[in-house]
Amino acid sequence: MVGERTRLTPDRADRFTLCGSLAAIATMHGKERVIAPVLSAGLGLECRVPAGLDTDRFGTFSRERARTANALEAAREKVAAAFAMMPEARVAIASEGSFGPHPQIPFAPLGRELVVLIDRVTGLEIAGHDATLDLRYAHVIARTTQDAEAFGERIGFPEHALIVMGCAGDHPDPHIALCKGITTSQALAEAVGTAIALSGAAFVETDMRAHHNPTRMRAIERASCDLIARYQSRCPACATPGFAVTQRIAGLPCKWCGAPTALPLAEVFTCTACGHREERSVIGQTTADPGNCDLCNP
Ligand SMILES: [Zn+2]
Ligand SMILES: [Zn+2]
Repeated sequence: MVGERTRLTPDRADRFTLCGSLAAIATMHGKERVIAPVLSAGLGLECRVPAGLDTDRFGTFSRERARTANALEAAREKVAAAFAMMPEARVAIASEGSFGPHPQIPFAPLGRELVVLIDRVTGLEIAGHDATLDLRYAHVIARTTQDAEAFGERIGFPEHALIVMGCAGDHPDPHIALCKGITTSQALAEAVGTAIALSGAAFVETDMRAHHNPTRMRAIERASCDLIARYQSRCPACATPGFAVTQRIAGLPCKWCGAPTALPLAEVFTCTACGHREERSVIGQTTADPGNCDLCNP
């Protein structure tokens, strides 16, 4: 077996090869529409959705049940539930979205998607990520049906569905009234009318469930592609998937003066299995635009 190590490629069949294995996708909101094709093409998995899986018990976006765990823990719980319902599956996959204020940009909402794959033969856990400012995540307090209609026009209703709740003070209260998955003007007017009659105003917000939010569905697809890229990135020393960037080293030289800038010069890849570490220069980047230079563009 001369040259065994050098012929190590991501396609080499070994214990991490998932081609032909059964995968359970933990979703009740149609996420398999984007996750399954990506995982079939990228890893050769045969994807199925366990029948009767209730992922809402891990928390809902419409506030009836708050998510208690963080996104990764919640995804792991869904994976465990999917394995319990489909014992013949080797792999289970779950996704979790988080939406909230951007940590650096004021008033900009940030959407994060996490897709987690766990292989119970090898015990490997690989997560794909997406972070975007392009999302349909907003709410309005409507005093009239016209308020709600104007909001709907801004956020891409009816392709993006809406949720209507009652209001207590200016806060949403699903216990007063709650109507989810609204996709017609008539249903919107009725739900808003009911909420206003009961509480004086209607809290209207985007329905963040994946099958009701095509913008979010595309983000889940990108996170799935990121997962595949990470799975296919093997450690050069031990061949375990998930050899990924864990650190970026700043200092890409300015194109004009050569001074180090804040842009990354190199990326550090680390293997979580054996600890192997490699520094690689950022592909295609040898100099920084002078706009990023403190000397040329103070
Ligand atoms: Zn410069
Ligand atoms: Zn390794």
